[in-house]
Amino acid sequence: MARLATAFLLMALAAATVLWIAGPRLVNTPALSQAHQGDDCPIPLTYRMGEVDPRFGLSSEALREVTAEAAALWEDLAPRPLFRYDPAGELLINLTYDERQGTWEAQQRAQEALEEVRARHAALVEAHEAREHALRTARARYEDQLAYVERRLERHNSVVVAVNTGEIERTPERVKALERESEAITALRQQVDAQYERVERLRRQFNARVSRLNQMTETLNRQVRRYNDQFARGGGYNKGVYLHKRSNRAVRRSITVYQFKDRADLRQVLAHELGHALGIDHVSDPAALMHYQLSEHNTGLSRLTAADRQALRAVCAW
Ligand SMILES: [Zn+2]
Repeated sequence: MARLATAFLLMALAAATVLWIAGPRLVNTPALSQAHQGDDCPIPLTYRMGEVDPRFGLSSEALREVTAEAAALWEDLAPRPLFRYDPAGELLINLTYDERQGTWEAQQRAQEALEEVRARHAALVEAHEAREHALRTARARYEDQLAYVERRLERHNSVVVAVNTGEIERTPERVKALERESEAITALRQQVDAQYERVERLRRQFNARVSRLNQMTETLNRQVRRYNDQFARGGGYNKGVYLHKRSNRAVRRSITVYQFKDRADLRQVLAHELGHALGIDHVSDPAALMHYQLSEHNTGLSRLTAADRQALRAVCAW
């Protein structure tokens, strides 16, 4: 069996808080291995197409092509042909549509909807950060300006006091200069006040949008939770199965695939089940095609691993 573990880890960032929404971590449970009853390495194994549910949107011919690609993965490792297509072949290849593919498709749709919300949220976060930066910059500028005006005012006042007490000589030029300085300081104070208004305006905008952003974050997280509740519950499922039945003297072999996301995924599931059809059991290397579970370690294999090669050699004895 090719077993898929479903695990989701989705995250939403709030303006003020960081929320992690995690789907339950799935515990790997080994799938039951099929009994291989003594006739391992039945090569060349002939195969043909069986029932292909039209809901997969894949023709029987396309399935045959993908099966040939899956077979080629094994044949790259073998000194002689392992599989052969034959319209009267022994091994049936079926595509059976059930809740596994149905749920997967619903999940794809839900994921797309979620990604849209997430993108809108990300845009809000970006705008929020830009506003925060503008606010900080304006506030720093205000504080610099204010400190400068205060220093200048202090100096001016001390000169005025000194002139008033006679410590510094009062001349008409000095009085004129002090009046000019007083006007200049007044003008600067107006600029500082205007900058203060700018800061306040930015602060109000910032605060108003923070609550909007937090609401959006809540919406996103609610949707993520709903998504996780709906899809990240189970402990994985079998994407495909190889069956080997003996009745009287006849041996009936079939591969049935229940779920795949794209052609490469289907090829991988088929290659895994073809491995079982040769009599190969699961191997312990998580990167191998014949590992019982499809995970990030062995997804999208373009060639088989040393563990797969070894398992093939052991069964086919060369
Ligand atoms: Zn398996």
